[in-house]
Amino acid sequence: MQLSFVVFKTMKKFCVEKTLKTSVGSTRLGHLELPLFTKAEEGNDGSSNGRSKIDYATPMYFLHTQTGSIPHITAEVLKLIYPTASDTSGQIPPVQISLDATAKFIEPLSKFENGVGKFVGLSEHPIFLTIHDPLYLLRSGHNDKFGIALWSRHGRRPLSPKQFHEAVTAFKPSISQILSDYDVNPEISGMKRLKKSLERAEEYTSYVIKQEETTEREKKKNTGFFITIEASWFLMDEGLATKAVLRLLESQHQIEGVVLAGLSDRFVKKKQEDEVKKDSNGKGSGDSERMDICETLDIELLDKMLQNLPANLPKYVPGPFKLPEMMDLVARGVDLFDSSLASRMADYAEALLLDSVEAILPSISTTMVAMPSSLSEGLAERADKAERQEPPSNSEEGEGAVISLKDKKYFDDFGPLSRFCTCYTCRKHTRSYIHHLYATDELLGPVLIQIHNLSTLDRFFSIMRALVKENDSPESLLEKSALMRNLLKARILIKIEKEDKVAVPSV
Ligand SMILES: [Zn+2]
Repeated sequence: MQLSFVVFKTMKKFCVEKTLKTSVGSTRLGHLELPLFTKAEEGNDGSSNGRSKIDYATPMYFLHTQTGSIPHITAEVLKLIYPTASDTSGQIPPVQISLDATAKFIEPLSKFENGVGKFVGLSEHPIFLTIHDPLYLLRSGHNDKFGIALWSRHGRRPLSPKQFHEAVTAFKPSISQILSDYDVNPEISGMKRLKKSLERAEEYTSYVIKQEETTEREKKKNTGFFITIEASWFLMDEGLATKAVLRLLESQHQIEGVVLAGLSDRFVKKKQEDEVKKDSNGKGSGDSERMDICETLDIELLDKMLQNLPANLPKYVPGPFKLPEMMDLVARGVDLFDSSLASRMADYAEALLLDSVEAILPSISTTMVAMPSSLSEGLAERADKAERQEPPSNSEEGEGAVISLKDKKYFDDFGPLSRFCTCYTCRKHTRSYIHHLYATDELLGPVLIQIHNLSTLDRFFSIMRALVKENDSPESLLEKSALMRNLLKARILIKIEKEDKVAVPSV
């Protein structure tokens, strides 16, 4: 019988490479080193073979998954988006897998021994084990002293701290978010409930850390832990919340990062359920438990949450925030995100566009690949105009950072989704074809949009990193960020002329 043992090469490391203090916060660039789980055969001394750790430049995003798969696309299709690690876009993202839909894997995975990455066919990506799917709403009233409730389309499932630790041991992720009693809602919870939630956060965290210390003595350390900080704690009582966070951080030598949870409103509400049922566009219809794209971000609340956190810990904010909101988060020192925005937009037939930014990329970044000037000149002029003007409402020619391919106006639009994007979808297919796919409910529609959206999100993060890297004064960083943010937020006046279009209908 061949013996095998589990090896994690090193602990994860986060280092801040550059910090720029501006009037809004500390914006930073960093590196997060994530180990890939490998199961070494007998005789392997566990030395690094060059593939066991991946170094990621931050700010960055994790690929959002549901039940261990990236919505709409397979691992094979994923290779069309991230062909090689040395691709100009930079890096093949690590993957976020949430326990709510995968807790049922705990038992088979403890027998499988090769970790969740291999189990779901994503073994080339480091795994971040989180608790909740950022696109799934939570229900109130089911957390108790034994643990918390996980929610998925299969219903509710309890999770105790012990089960959580068993999951970590079986899944073998690179990092894990420690569970937290999320069920505090300022509208209905009293102070007693808040105190209970804070106590449980400490109990859960110390239980998990203690278990891990015991495990560590037997085996090599296998995961890095992120503590969870709930936004609702700060909404209810900033003083109590701050004290609790400081206590959670006392075991800092074991903590490798922070999850800032609940910045999106994540509870199922009666009113919302009714609205969703009435929706005749099919947008989210019949699926009242799915999270919508987050339109707003409570900056004041975010600042309170960030206040006492040490600079050397990476911070992750889960959820489908729009690009301008992600920029606000980056500006305040948030390092880690997920691609749930891309997934949700693909569900809605919405394509993410950076055209307004990419048209004037040279004036934002000196190192990013600039578009051919023939393409960008006229666009830059219009984008500049748009920046100074109030965005027109429902402008006929306006195209902001999002277009909906369900819109009938794309019926005979033979251009690509974005003329600045070189993704598979934009190279091979037209807006007209994708509109047709959605109109006839073909599964290929969301596949093509997801390919494009992930490629676009990837470029967005590359641009964000370039922005921080190239600007050494807070003023220039703020000025360029404001320009980019306005372009993404406004309904930009970019009219794509008929003759500019690539007239290659693919049907
Ligand atoms: Zn594209």
